[in-house]
Amino acid sequence: METKVIRIEDTDHIKDEELREAAQILRAGGLVAFPTETVYGLGANALDEEAAKKIYAAKGRPSDNPLIAHISCMKELEPLVTEIPEAGRRLAEAYWPGPLTMVFPKSEKVPYGTTGGLDTVAVRMPSDPVANRLIALAGVPVAAPSANTSGRPSPTMAEHVYQDMNGRIEMIIDGGPVGIGLESTIVDVSGEVPTLLRPGAVTMEMLEETVGHVEIDPALQGPLRADVRPKAPGMKYRHYAPKAVLTLVEGETEAVIAEMNRLVKEHLDAGERVGVICTEETRGRYPEGVLRCIGERSHEETIAHNLFAVLREFDDLQVDCIFSESFSKDHLGQAIMNRLTKAAGYHIIKV
Ligand code: AMP
Ligand code: MG
Repeated sequence: METKVIRIEDTDHIKDEELREAAQILRAGGLVAFPTETVYGLGANALDEEAAKKIYAAKGRPSDNPLIAHISCMKELEPLVTEIPEAGRRLAEAYWPGPLTMVFPKSEKVPYGTTGGLDTVAVRMPSDPVANRLIALAGVPVAAPSANTSGRPSPTMAEHVYQDMNGRIEMIIDGGPVGIGLESTIVDVSGEVPTLLRPGAVTMEMLEETVGHVEIDPALQGPLRADVRPKAPGMKYRHYAPKAVLTLVEGETEAVIAEMNRLVKEHLDAGERVGVICTEETRGRYPEGVLRCIGERSHEETIAHNLFAVLREFDDLQVDCIFSESFSKDHLGQAIMNRLTKAAGYHIIKV
């Protein structure tokens, strides 16, 4: 299949004509990758089971891993769900459109092929102007997981999507680099107490400010036992995996730098190619290894923004192992550390 790439020059002034062909492809059951404020999504009609199947095939994604249905405005939520619980209504008011996904009891309209066989459906209303307008023009809810091959870091620019999806999908819409760089926060509002299933840019602190106490799904606390079924099925897979072995080093700054330099030397001496992930604040402190700066510790949104691109870059650089500094676990740091620890397969050295 030939993949057509179109570029939106001015995302603040999108003309509907620019998105008409993409909307038509979605309505006809095809696949279109498009920018959102979180990461690039791989879109298909969420109400069309055959279209959803194409997403699983293009990504190589296990079919029990449910898809998020994306909508462009509040009235598109009602047909997808049997109920909008109070917590869901409040969170929608506070954070939609934006990087928040909520899990609701699903209506009959939503096929099990989209929800991985679950009786619930995850829904998000993106704020990115290209995503939002495309969904409105398509006139159908759009299932859109990250537009990467399953197991690779999520794409934060159209070039990443092209690397993974060229020849597998009808169209890629290039809207430039995304804003946030990490996938949406997921909160289950279908039960008694709202439960955080995946941390993201709408932080735990922000959620609790809006709805009071929020539970944290056990899948977020550490590796799951093989017999435990996480509420968010995607959490059981080794996501965001770089090709090299990634190790996080955690502790007080000076001790971390010393330990990272010791590890780098040890692996270089063993004849390996070694990658180092540092921050703007520490970039002068690592004399050896292939160094990449992930962002500014004092502005964690820069770290979220660069994280997946840095992991992809290391794949291309073909290093054997990577050592990375760690981050705080509150606010946006919770989402950053969630992605990094999973990429590291929970391999963390504490100093
Ligand atoms: P993504 O690949 O970023 O689109 O993320 C989709 C993830 O959302 C899945 O891997 C699940 O973990 C989660 N998810 C989607 N639908 C549901 C649902 N109905 N219940 C719980 N988690 C869901
Ligand atoms: Mg994904």
